[in-house]
Amino acid sequence: MTPISRESEKSDEVLIALEKLSKKWTIDPKIRDIHLGLRSDVRDYLLKLNQVTYHIPYLSETSEFVVWDCLWPDCHNCCEKQGRLPLTSRDISVISKGLGYPNRTDFLEKETYVATWEHTNSTLRKESQIITTLTMVNLKRSETEGEAENGEQITCRFLNGGGSCSINSSKPGVCSLYPFFSWTQNENNRVSVHASYQFTGDCPGFSLTKTLDENIPILRNYSEIIYNYSMSVNTTLRESFARIDITE
Ligand code: SF4
Ligand code: SF4
Repeated sequence: MTPISRESEKSDEVLIALEKLSKKWTIDPKIRDIHLGLRSDVRDYLLKLNQVTYHIPYLSETSEFVVWDCLWPDCHNCCEKQGRLPLTSRDISVISKGLGYPNRTDFLEKETYVATWEHTNSTLRKESQIITTLTMVNLKRSETEGEAENGEQITCRFLNGGGSCSINSSKPGVCSLYPFFSWTQNENNRVSVHASYQFTGDCPGFSLTKTLDENIPILRNYSEIIYNYSMSVNTTLRESFARIDITE
């Protein structure tokens, strides 16, 4: 697939997701345009908290930052429209124990499948976009899920009738990470962790603000989750449970 057709297919998916989201939630038109990549004034505002450098989108025309807060329990859209659940090696150990498996081999055979997919960093300017190809073990979101459903949005089988996750204490790290995504960079021979938002049109928790002050506690709290998740992914790669190829 060429980059242009991949880009337009992604915009179509985001547009459909936003239309569905708008039936229940009021989406600020500027937030909608950011999701769709329609604003030319989006800048990267770098904010380092603990060991994570956030790339916060900043609208230079209106002097506003994009901030996020989770709307659960009123919203559980990310569990109702889950695209895939890639697992770190830590997740594999924790979830297999949580589901009562005597060993990881049985868990891997019955509850997971291996999938490959591409992730495009949609928050950075187009000229600096990074395309990442990942191959990871994925937790089945339905009992019969296989590679054919890789990336299709389905309701996760662990979402219970009360809107909670039935494996909350052992849920995959990627669930805690959402709607952030993270990546690591080598800076002066040290690994540095970066994070930004995923703008897929599926989360109604984004809003705009003139100051980040009220959101610093949320970002500080998430920096620990993001850092630990990034380190888990690195360990997973070292243990050959996953593979990542990066192209710019
Ligand atoms: S979709 Fe966003 S607001 Fe809704 S539960 Fe998930 S993270 Fe929270
Ligand atoms: S494992 Fe839990 S948190 Fe993750 S998608 Fe499923 S229900 Fe949601």
